[in-house]
Amino acid sequence: MPRQFFVGGNFKMNPATQEQKRALVKTLNDADIDPAVEVVIAPPSIYLLALKDTLRKDIQVAAQNCYCKPTGAFTGEISPAQLVDAGVPYVILGHSERRTLFHESSELVAQKTKAALDAGLAVILCVGETLEEREQGRTAQVVEAQLQPVVQVVGEKDWSKIVVAYEPVWAIGTGKVATSAQAQEAHDNIRRFLAKAVSPAVAESTRIIYGGSVTAANCKELATQPDVDGFLVGGASLKPEFIQIINAKR
Ligand code: PGA
Repeated sequence: MPRQFFVGGNFKMNPATQEQKRALVKTLNDADIDPAVEVVIAPPSIYLLALKDTLRKDIQVAAQNCYCKPTGAFTGEISPAQLVDAGVPYVILGHSERRTLFHESSELVAQKTKAALDAGLAVILCVGETLEEREQGRTAQVVEAQLQPVVQVVGEKDWSKIVVAYEPVWAIGTGKVATSAQAQEAHDNIRRFLAKAVSPAVAESTRIIYGGSVTAANCKELATQPDVDGFLVGGASLKPEFIQIINAKR
């Protein structure tokens, strides 16, 4: 079965006001969107339920993070069970901003992934190397070390609910997009790793999406690559050009 193209919009800590949020929803609701694409928007948690209720039904929502416990004394956190109870289908985990600014280890990301899957969420699992790691020729090794703890704690059938987002840290928010060849090589490495570490069937069916300075200008070229199954879009997801990115395959 071909892998369904997937485009996520990671709003990060944007927009700043309710009014801007309403304008973003209107842009999405009025847009002509390719029905073959799975579209998921991840707003800040304060806007999550409002977006779920006001967005058109063919666009889903995702949390940008969650914790790994169901309830309890964890100030500032949201649990996978709470997201499921509120009707939120997806969560982004392991984003480089969480790993770097909030010191999340690959082991914690794996625990969160397991907790999210066990609660019934689907997971957008982010991995990617820094510029220094790439220059040292360690890209594949770094990405595998980020994936390995997840492989260890989740079962083979859980992978049908995981979308892997390859997001090189040097490309996130920098305007320096990976070339389509760089993206293809990294995605191919991830697929080979999954074949070896999980199973060939999981490697074949898991969607591997690219993130890092995706724009309307570069998305079509990236989308031609056989192992690029979609995008995770930050900055451009807040602009009208996000619609062109969703429709990159048209
Ligand atoms: P960017 O962010 O598109 O602004 O580079 C991507 C991401 O962080 O998911």
